[in-house]
Amino acid sequence: MADSYPAVSAVYSPFMSVDQELLEILACPACKTPVVLVKDGTALKCRTCARVYPIKDDIPVMLIDEASVEP
Ligand SMILES: [Zn+2]
Repeated sequence: MADSYPAVSAVYSPFMSVDQELLEILACPACKTPVVLVKDGTALKCRTCARVYPIKDDIPVMLIDEASVEP
């Protein structure tokens, strides 16, 4: 058989809960800075205004009212 096996195209990430493409379009609603994952992937932080947005049920909650400010 000359058939080749299909290539395995798995993207490994230390954070599996939030899709990487989704992350790239997420920005802080307060200052429009792209956010970064923190707390082992359970929250998103804006490095500009220090707001931390929670991730609930794998859904980032990008609401200023839901964010906490951490130095
Ligand atoms: Zn911000």
